[in-house]
Amino acid sequence: MTDTLIGTRHPLSDTAADAQVRADDRAHVFHSWSAQALIDPLPIAGGTGATFWDYEGNEYLDFSSQLVNLNLGHQHPDLVTAIQQQAARLATIQPSMANDVRGELARRIAEVAPGDLDKVFFTNGGADANEYAVRMARAVTGRRKVLSMYRSYHGGTATAISLTGDPRRWANEPSDGSVAHFFGPYEYRSSWGATTPEEEASRALAHLEQVVTLEGASTIAAIILETIVGTNGVLVPPPGYLQGVRELCDRHGIVYIADEVMVGFGRVGEWFAVNHFGVTPDLITFAKGVNSGYVPLGGVVISQRIAAHFDTVAFQGGLTYSGHPLACAPGVATFEVFERDGILERVRDLGSRVVEPRLRAMADAHPSVGEVRGLGLFWAIELVRNPATREPLVPFNASGADAAPMAAVAAACKQAGLWPFIHFNRMHVAPPLVISEDELVRGLHIIDEALTVADGYV
Ligand code: PLP
Repeated sequence: MTDTLIGTRHPLSDTAADAQVRADDRAHVFHSWSAQALIDPLPIAGGTGATFWDYEGNEYLDFSSQLVNLNLGHQHPDLVTAIQQQAARLATIQPSMANDVRGELARRIAEVAPGDLDKVFFTNGGADANEYAVRMARAVTGRRKVLSMYRSYHGGTATAISLTGDPRRWANEPSDGSVAHFFGPYEYRSSWGATTPEEEASRALAHLEQVVTLEGASTIAAIILETIVGTNGVLVPPPGYLQGVRELCDRHGIVYIADEVMVGFGRVGEWFAVNHFGVTPDLITFAKGVNSGYVPLGGVVISQRIAAHFDTVAFQGGLTYSGHPLACAPGVATFEVFERDGILERVRDLGSRVVEPRLRAMADAHPSVGEVRGLGLFWAIELVRNPATREPLVPFNASGADAAPMAAVAAACKQAGLWPFIHFNRMHVAPPLVISEDELVRGLHIIDEALTVADGYV
């Protein structure tokens, strides 16, 4: 599939360009989530399909999809052309006017969304999609509180970072005081000693019910959860859990928000991951894969019931770039490519036939692999120092010297030409959905070899 993709290979070993990019970056670019003096970002010259390369001619298989974003890979010709043609025709138009690509993208999204979710509010990315979903839930219920998982990431803006349960929230506290956190299912490290998926689902639901009771059901506007927890571990919910959340929300008049910023648009072989589980939330938030991040775009898919609330009551919110034509055009092209090239089927096939058996074999072969889990082209390899006690290979939230074992695994991958997605004690496997089977097998082989480095710490 990658041979149909375009991309301009940068002249190899352009050390002058490398030095210039490094110098400008070092002097003037302020980076996300980093101590500025302690990072050394790699200058990237170009990419195509599932690979990208630096100015020294080193090529990397991209198993991160650039923060699980680049579902159709680098420089997909259909997306590039859609942007070029849209720019030549109408580069921008304000959100209060109707626009053809904006309307078409909203219709295509509504067609693949579950149940009666058939309106789309467009945002600039994932965090503001979650901000707006919460704002809608608060307006509709007249309540303020929101529940989210400890093991979650919902974005870096004010409300989104409060919703986030993981340590990225800490430095931003105290923030939105009306958020409470709960434990989601995680069978490998069960908070309740559960030993089967069924037990984990029922105990996690009993816990959530208790949190709702103690927080006060009548004060809770929404429960937001990633359908499959992403950066916090690729945690696939056990059967029945999401149905239980749906039922609990219905019983208490709580809005169910599914954050599908990372797992939407094909990552797990469905347009939305909730389709895999047969569950219909009230609101779905999306970003990233909607147009592979070629132009920033996110949004909220809204149920008829919630949309109807705003038929005669003004929705108090908006963004200058909401539904930007340059972002929507590659979104429409994404639907065309998915349908023409059978991307959803491809993801299901590659996931179950190529990725899963190889990862399970690695789990058997490497003492450092505690568990592998995932769906479609979204997997995690959880690394441990002690397989019997399940002690993580690096301590929770490790950085610096504490994180050295994971840094060594990452270095082994990069050395062999694979760009990994490492988070805490896990390596996530999230290549572009257009990766060729040969590339996928090669990348998994590199990971297999790199795991011997982790084995050395067991
Ligand atoms: N929600 C989830 C599940 C995410 O993974 C992310 C980003 O990684 C976000 C929200 C935030 O999206 P953005 O960075 O586009 O604001």
